[in-house]
Amino acid sequence: MSALWKSSLWFTFAAWLVSCATPGSRFSTGRDVWGHRPGPKGFSTVIIDAGHGGKDNGASGKFTGQLEKDLTLDMARRLRAELSGNFTTILLRADDTFVDLDERVMRANHYGDAILVSLHFNSGQAHIRGPETYYWRVDSHGLAIRMQRAMSATCPAENANRGIVRRRLRLTRNPEIPCVLLEGGYLSHPLESHLIATAAYRQQLAAAIAAAIRTQAAMGDAGTGPLPPPLHAPPSRPTDTRE
Ligand SMILES: [Zn+2]
Repeated sequence: MSALWKSSLWFTFAAWLVSCATPGSRFSTGRDVWGHRPGPKGFSTVIIDAGHGGKDNGASGKFTGQLEKDLTLDMARRLRAELSGNFTTILLRADDTFVDLDERVMRANHYGDAILVSLHFNSGQAHIRGPETYYWRVDSHGLAIRMQRAMSATCPAENANRGIVRRRLRLTRNPEIPCVLLEGGYLSHPLESHLIATAAYRQQLAAAIAAAIRTQAAMGDAGTGPLPPPLHAPPSRPTDTRE
């Protein structure tokens, strides 16, 4: 075997090894397990996750009688309408059905060149109100900042910005694409729950979230501040934390 032949054989073998360690599809489709990279720019697909559904009601508004699962589905439809024309949109559930969180992650991972936005409403002590945004991956930080800014600007209450929270949840850690989980306000707050109960307010929220997504697609992370440090942590499991 000539030296040249040997070296080309070795090169082929090495290239195969590399392709096994980091499957080409992960990069060619825009998917990345860890997400230790800047936020997305120019993506074409938005995966919209209406939180809860079916047997899982989520939070319930004791002042309005509304269920979180119905409100998140309504928000998902509004967001899809706001984004149509600019993006391909995928709804992880389009009706009142139960979809396990791991199943949602698996479905989201079919797509590359995409972001995942999970929609929720919060519940807590009666005096707490305001939107909140959860993220975990480095490549989701800019998106989280934009989402939180957009929701806070829509929310009329002073001091209603509860900010962004870096938390390892199944829908913030496990997807292989940039992902954020939005809490659009507190169903447990007497005033905020009545606000959330109005279609006009939900429409405003959806429009603001859509505008933030368009800005992220156009500008990437520009203007969202420094990236957070990369963290290595195992995927989130059902037993890890409240979701
Ligand atoms: Zn929820």
